[in-house]
Amino acid sequence: MTLDLLLEGGRVVTCEGDTPLKGRALNVGVRDERVAYLGTSAPTARQTVDVSGLLLLPGLVDPHTHLVFAGSRAEEFARRMAGASYHEIAAAGGGIAATVRYTRETSDEELLELARRRVLALRAAGVTSIEVKSGYGLSTEHELRLLRVARRLDHEGLARIRTTFLGAHALPPEHTGDRDRYVDEVVAEQLPAVAASGLADACDVYCDEGAFTLAQARRVLEQALALGLAVRAHVGQFADLGGAELAAELGALSADHLEEVSDAGLDALAKAGTVAVLLPGAWSTLRQAAPRAERFRAAGVTVAIGTDLNPGTSPTTDLPLMAALAVRDAGLTTEEALLGITRHAARAAGLDAGTIRVGGPADIAAFTLSDARALPYALGGVRPSLVLLRGRVVVRNETPQLW
Ligand SMILES: [Zn+2]
Repeated sequence: MTLDLLLEGGRVVTCEGDTPLKGRALNVGVRDERVAYLGTSAPTARQTVDVSGLLLLPGLVDPHTHLVFAGSRAEEFARRMAGASYHEIAAAGGGIAATVRYTRETSDEELLELARRRVLALRAAGVTSIEVKSGYGLSTEHELRLLRVARRLDHEGLARIRTTFLGAHALPPEHTGDRDRYVDEVVAEQLPAVAASGLADACDVYCDEGAFTLAQARRVLEQALALGLAVRAHVGQFADLGGAELAAELGALSADHLEEVSDAGLDALAKAGTVAVLLPGAWSTLRQAAPRAERFRAAGVTVAIGTDLNPGTSPTTDLPLMAALAVRDAGLTTEEALLGITRHAARAAGLDAGTIRVGGPADIAAFTLSDARALPYALGGVRPSLVLLRGRVVVRNETPQLW
């Protein structure tokens, strides 16, 4: 069997087995976009790439982004840093509502181009799989438009994309004050149209103080399940409304944020196998206390880490930096953080990715790091020298790397 490609001379971190982060001297063979060989010999290949001196990790997985949007909120950031609260800004027409206005006014082509750039920036940081939410359209027409852009990123082969419908992200301007009526629209109109379009893999809901109630979140997610979509939820960013228990009860792929969550909520997530996705960019921008990793560990909850890439609370594409912050702020071990942006993030995203194994996808990020632990050790700016997506080299970075 001739391989399409052989990566020769590197050390491989598989993110699998008993010592998932140990670097082993292994050559990696690729055939038909999948890993077809892992071993110490050098089988025949049409192309050989010398990766000696590099540490090969699975392509990183970002399990939580809102990357289809238009407009900057730098001005709002300045106000918030000067003391205005998230809720004050929202009440003054800023926040998610501002991004909804900018996004609705932007053409499909321009939205696609903005989204492409963000995917390329994530990829330059080693990310090959991305969960992408809608949620800045907030009407059937505009939500479908955002999901179409997200799908297009996948069809263009820029990354592996999982799409999530987030119609219940905020109240659109035309529904001011009447959340129940808007939830009626999401359940009766938006969700059936989204499910019929085939543009979404999952459905998300923002269940929190100042967002949707637990009862409203249940209505949305139950309808999504009935229509055959997977579910996930934003819960406990500001207040614990019992969203973790709801996510667990409904078999959600992930429950995201969890700055505020009870022990019962964590137990429920662990029992259901729902992944907790932590979002350091948001707690850092909002100057909130991070969740405590020891509580998640004690409950046996699987933890992943996302960028939460969005224009308000987390304008970042630096997933390795998010892992670094999760270790420093939340107390994750370096191992938990690394699995949190690979294997565990893939589970949260509902993707076959995040490990290097024979038969698995040939998505690999190769770093100059001496040891996998150096990735969360460095405080931002870690970039791979080479990225492989579906067995094809898509990034070659010549910038000298420090770590
Ligand atoms: Zn989010």
